[in-house]
Amino acid sequence: MSTTKHSEGDRHRVSLTPTYDQSNGWHEMLPPLAEPTILTGDTTCDHIVIGGGYSGLAVTRRLAELDPSARIVLIDGDRIGNNAAGRSSGFAIDHAHNLRAKGFADAKKAAQDAIAMNRAGLEWLGDTIAANNIDCQWVQEGKYHAAATSRGERMLGQFAESLDAVDEDYTLVGANDCAEIFGTSYYSLAIHAPHSYLVQPAAMVRGLAETMPANVAVYESSMVTSVEYGDGSSRPHTVRTERGSASAPSLVLATNGFTEGFGFLSKQLIPLITWGSITRELTDDESNRFGGHASYGIIAAHPAGTSVRRVTTPNNRILVRNIFSFSKKSDFVSRKSWAAKTHRRAFERRWPQLIDVPFEHSWGGALSLSRNGEPVFGELRPGVFGTVVHNGVGIARGTISGKLLAEMIMGEDSELLRQMKAKGRPDDALPFQNLGVRINARARRIIAGREE
Ligand SMILES: Cc1cc2nc3c(=O)[nH]c(=O)nc-3n(C[C@H](O)[C@H](O)[C@H](O)COP(=O)(O)OP(=O)(O)OC[C@H]3O[C@@H](n4cnc5c(N)ncnc54)[C@H](O)[C@@H]3O)c2cc1C
Repeated sequence: MSTTKHSEGDRHRVSLTPTYDQSNGWHEMLPPLAEPTILTGDTTCDHIVIGGGYSGLAVTRRLAELDPSARIVLIDGDRIGNNAAGRSSGFAIDHAHNLRAKGFADAKKAAQDAIAMNRAGLEWLGDTIAANNIDCQWVQEGKYHAAATSRGERMLGQFAESLDAVDEDYTLVGANDCAEIFGTSYYSLAIHAPHSYLVQPAAMVRGLAETMPANVAVYESSMVTSVEYGDGSSRPHTVRTERGSASAPSLVLATNGFTEGFGFLSKQLIPLITWGSITRELTDDESNRFGGHASYGIIAAHPAGTSVRRVTTPNNRILVRNIFSFSKKSDFVSRKSWAAKTHRRAFERRWPQLIDVPFEHSWGGALSLSRNGEPVFGELRPGVFGTVVHNGVGIARGTISGKLLAEMIMGEDSELLRQMKAKGRPDDALPFQNLGVRINARARRIIAGREE
């Protein structure tokens, strides 16, 4: 794991911070938030967590549960819900469709362990949502992987083989049933995997932040602009925002791709943006024209294809997500109209009967990947911990990684924690990663064809 160039006690100016706009449909559809509690003055505590996404919320809650006498401060630069976590498509999934399980016993065990790890994250999240009555439409609907091309059908065939190899249950759905469920004849085949959940992501993360245990103070709209790293024991770490500071011997970075701004992992993280759009509310007439089931989520057979959701409760809308772009500067604005156009094309291909229904919101959000897909987990330097890189499975992986990081900090031990510690760590990205990502994304879009 790389460390900062700065020696202990040095003040490090945070060089990359998020600049989200007010376009996130999930967040905008919710009632307006009360004014944020902003970090002001100088505070000392036992643990500082920076980042109110899935990882940061999980670390914070778990630290508070394990150490009720500790004082924990959670700081976010924006409103929690307007971040990538609140901008996700809300598929809380237990496995992606690139299971590498065919053939080898150790590959089978690794895939089964990864699914079990994700499920542990989802189970804890579901329990937390239920225990705190968080109204976020968390429902076990499962997920459909659907094909619109013969290549997509072949990919689903391979996916079914890998599910068989790890003894996972699923149902094959033929073209007629696809048309009846999805309200479109666009798809020829689907696999329904039953163990995933759908959720309103902004409502979930808002609710998680609002129901933190009493020993947690949550500060929003408080961007951390500099850090003085301590030594992890006698000299605390101090983080500064525009109007205040917090000091603690333990500092957790749950800051997604922005972790680079804190002086870590600049060679390992691949900063991507992916984009979503959601329609305005459908009228009753449009709902009838749509047909299809009231609520479902589809992930395209090809990884570069389009995910869609029908979201009935509390609104009656359709969500579309596709496209990745590369941005070292986390630019969520300049490519938005390009992304919205590809969403429009994907939407009209699938539901020509709804051609007159416009999108109300289009937005981008940060993803950080690593070249080999391995996560950042553990101590980055004395007393500074990180949980980053959850690929497209941020709800499950971000949550379990955050929970386990808190358990590690508190000296707990478990089989899951040992597995997490034993995972590989991110490789260095290749030189010219911008160009590499663009070529790769372009090639994948061409291959995906009508799966997009
Ligand atoms: C459009 C879209 C669709 C997606 N769909 C899905 C999906 O369906 N299912 C799924 O599982 N995943 C999905 N993802 C991925 C998922 O959103 C991410 O993997 C997840 O949000 C990562 O969680 P995190 O906690 O690591 O980071 P984030 O959610 O990005 O949280 C990091 C937080 O750190 C804060 N921060 C950063 N720097 C600072 C600073 N200097 N000072 C203060 N605060 C700071 C940010 O404001 C942010 O709130 C999607 C992502 C996008 C963008």
